[in-house]
Amino acid sequence: MAQSFGVIGLAVMGENIALNVERNGFPIAVYNRTPERTDAFMANRAQGKNVVAAYSLEDFVAALERPRRILVMVKAGKPVDAVIEQLKPLLDPEDMIIDGGNSLYEDTERRVKDLESSGLSFIGMGVSGGEEGALNGPSMMPGGTRAAYEAIEPIVTKIAAQVDDGPCVTYIGPGGSGHYVKMVHNGIEYGDMQLIAEAYDLMKNVLGLDHKQLHEVFSEWNTTEELDSFLIEITADIFTKMDDTGKALVELILDKAGQKGTGRWTVINALEVAVSIPTITAAVNARIMSGIKDERMIAAKQIEGPTASFDGNAQAFIGKIRDALYCSKICSYAQGMALLSKASELFEYDLDLGETARIWKGGCIIRARFLNKIKKAFDEDPKLPNLLLAPEFKQTILDRQTAWREVIAMAAQFGIPVPAFSASLDYFDSYRRDRLPQNLTQAQRDYFGAHTYERIDKAGVFHTEWMQET
Ligand code: NAP
Repeated sequence: MAQSFGVIGLAVMGENIALNVERNGFPIAVYNRTPERTDAFMANRAQGKNVVAAYSLEDFVAALERPRRILVMVKAGKPVDAVIEQLKPLLDPEDMIIDGGNSLYEDTERRVKDLESSGLSFIGMGVSGGEEGALNGPSMMPGGTRAAYEAIEPIVTKIAAQVDDGPCVTYIGPGGSGHYVKMVHNGIEYGDMQLIAEAYDLMKNVLGLDHKQLHEVFSEWNTTEELDSFLIEITADIFTKMDDTGKALVELILDKAGQKGTGRWTVINALEVAVSIPTITAAVNARIMSGIKDERMIAAKQIEGPTASFDGNAQAFIGKIRDALYCSKICSYAQGMALLSKASELFEYDLDLGETARIWKGGCIIRARFLNKIKKAFDEDPKLPNLLLAPEFKQTILDRQTAWREVIAMAAQFGIPVPAFSASLDYFDSYRRDRLPQNLTQAQRDYFGAHTYERIDKAGVFHTEWMQET
């Protein structure tokens, strides 16, 4: 009996997704470049399961039923190309390769063209949820032809996280759209994490909350409709983890954040397609800034910030921080969805934004109850230009903007950086103003470069000799 699904790459993600597929009733074949990893998988985790281990790609391919469906879960970048090049001569027309890694969407576009011209199918599939999600139900964002998706639909709909309105997977669109959506998902994840970090910073360093109180606040926030989410839940949990020294472990962790590139890709792409995503950009910048720890240590000794002490109502201020976090989060998602919307138009992805929000409701890192509201907003108006114009979000921000502004002003008085809170408020204020000061920018451009300008009172393109006396 041939195996119905193949997995190449048995690191943490590949192993777990392979076990998920097998558990859901699909016999699998596995292959890993380094045989010891395959041996370890077979000896430990694949015992008693319907798994065939192959030690050459020839044997791997021979073990699979046709047309073959092969998931590649190897390191993104050159390793994906290396695996594809080795597989290509061994495959038959209509066989399918699915790249489940965090590949750059432009690489996926290139691979789709290459493989489809060889008569093979290719799906670029973003997978979110880390190792736990891969094993128990991830959120998946597959892009490729619809026919290719239909060939894997029975499997992916079973292995995905399941939420109240279905599995956390859907056909995303053609070409590199699956990896594009995953990239923006990760950008939004950066934004969410930075916003939570800023709320923590304020509660710790303005209000003086200890780890127990922080645990209580985040636990309480996690019961609210707006903030109930995986990231808030794990944040609450993090404050309960004590070190052997008797201190909360989080306070002993070096404040230098790593990154693997998907946040940076989101920012670079947003600049290229001209969509403003300042909250996500601030989050990427905050990680970069955190990385110059040695320099910051020197600066901290030389440059003093303001000295202020909080003498207000701490409980009320916690509520305001929650409001600021929620308003900022709405702005961050507004930016991410605006980026998806523009990409959909430019790259002809024809994305369904409501459905995209729905498949993020379970399995993935940004899963949250609040995504129901985003789905609702786009279901009610699929052409919604910006989430800030959705009636519910608009009203929420109008109700809470005073608190939001107060929190940012307080942060400035205390000298506490809140780059993502501030960027979100700037986004909101820029978006809601009918006149921005770029009339002056246009005047300057025309002054020094004769770049011309348009006028508000008459049609046409104008140039002024600015240095000539009038
Ligand atoms: P990883 O550390 O990114 O990659 C290790 C795997 O890639 C191993 O199986 C390794 O084989 C294989 N590999 C590396 N270079 C290769 C080459 N030139 N030829 C063949 N195989 C090669 O593994 P991972 O963390 O499980 O992630 C897999 C993919 O999922 C990545 O794209 C990652 O970005 C993405 N992803 C990861 C997470 C996560 O939480 N870890 C979440 C979502 C998405 P050897 O054993 O032979 O070295």
